Amino acid sequence: PFEKSKGQHILRNPALVDSIIAKAGLKPTDTVLEIGPGTGNLTKKLLEAGVKAVVAVELDPRMVLELNRRFQGNPLASRLKIIQGDVLKCDLPYFDICVANIPYQISSPLTFKLLSHRPIFRCAVIMFQREFAMRLVAQPGDTLYCRLSVNVQLLSRVSHLLKVGRNNFRPPPKVDSSVVRIEPRKPLPPVSFKEWDGLVRICFNRKNKTLGSLFKQKRVLELLEKNFKTMQSLQLAQESGMAEEKMSPDDVALLANMVEDLSMETSDEKDDDDMEMDDGDVADDRASFKEKIMGILQQGDFAEKRSSKLSQIDFLYLLSLFNKAGIHFS
Ligand code: SAM
Repeated sequence: PFEKSKGQHILRNPALVDSIIAKAGLKPTDTVLEIGPGTGNLTKKLLEAGVKAVVAVELDPRMVLELNRRFQGNPLASRLKIIQGDVLKCDLPYFDICVANIPYQISSPLTFKLLSHRPIFRCAVIMFQREFAMRLVAQPGDTLYCRLSVNVQLLSRVSHLLKVGRNNFRPPPKVDSSVVRIEPRKPLPPVSFKEWDGLVRICFNRKNKTLGSLFKQKRVLELLEKNFKTMQSLQLAQESGMAEEKMSPDDVALLANMVEDLSMETSDEKDDDDMEMDDGDVADDRASFKEKIMGILQQGDFAEKRSSKLSQIDFLYLLSLFNKAGIHFS
C-alpha cells in the first residue's frame, strides 16, 4: 500500500520518534508544522508532547483518511489540523517549529521553501537522506562541501542530531538517514541572495579549480561584463550591493527556483572554457575587463584558492570586493 514515488517510509521505531521529539525542544506555546505525517506516528507524539497545535501537510489522500480515522474521537484531535496537498505548492501556515520525516525527493526545494517563509520559524528538526544531511552540515575542506552547504549555512545554523539506519523504517529505504537541526539566522546577513548565489554558482561550478581559472572562463567574463555594462548604464556601478541591499523575502524565495542542480556539481573532467580572443577593440576591451576581474581576485588573495576550502566569511568578503568594484552577479 505504500507508494515509493511519494517516499512513503513509515517510522516504526517508537524510541526513535521519542528522541526526535526530545531533540526538538518543543514549548507548550508552539505551533508545529509537520510535513508528510503519513500514518501519524510522529504526529501523535507531537500532540502528546503538549504543543499548542500541529499543522500537518500530507499529499496522499489515503494517508489523510487514515490520519482522520486514527485521531477520530481522540481529544488530541482538537489541536491537529490536517492540510491535504503538496507542501511545495501550498502556502505554508504560521509555525514556530517544523518537525518532519519527509519524502527525500523534496529535500532541497523544501529546505529553501522553509528558509524563505516569513515570519521566520525558530527551528526545524528534519529527517533527511544521510548524504543530503552531510552536505548540509559540511564545512570547508570536507568532501561533501558544496553550493548547498554554503547557501543553507548562509541562511541558517545547521547541526547533525542523529544517525538513523534504514531499518527504522517500513519499508526500509535504500539509504541511511540523519536527523538535522536547522536554525534560521537572526538577523539574516545583509546580502542580496541573488548576488550571493550568482557568485557561489560560479565558484562551485568546479569546486577544486582555482578561482583564478574559473573566472578566466569566457562564459563567466561575458556574463560579468554584461552585468557591469548594464550597471554602468544605470549609473549604479559605484553602489555596493553589500552595503545597500538587504535580503528580502522575495529574494530568498528565488532560492526555491534555484535548487534543482544543487547537489549535482559538474565533475572536473570536461573543461571547455579556454578564453578565445577576438580581434581589435573588442579584444582590448575583453582583455582589460579580464584584468580587472583578476585584479579583484588578487586583491583578496583569492586567485589561487579553491571553493572547496573557502568559508562563508571568505565568500562574503569576495562578494564585497566584487561589488565595490561595480561587478555584480545578478
Ligand atoms: N511521517 C511519517 C512517518 O514518519 O512515519 C511518514 C513519512 S514518509 C517518509 C513521507 C510522507 O510524506 C508520506 O506520507 C507521503 O505521502 C508524504 N508526501 C510525499 N510527498 C509530499 C509532498 N510533496 N507534500 C506533502 N506530503 C508529501
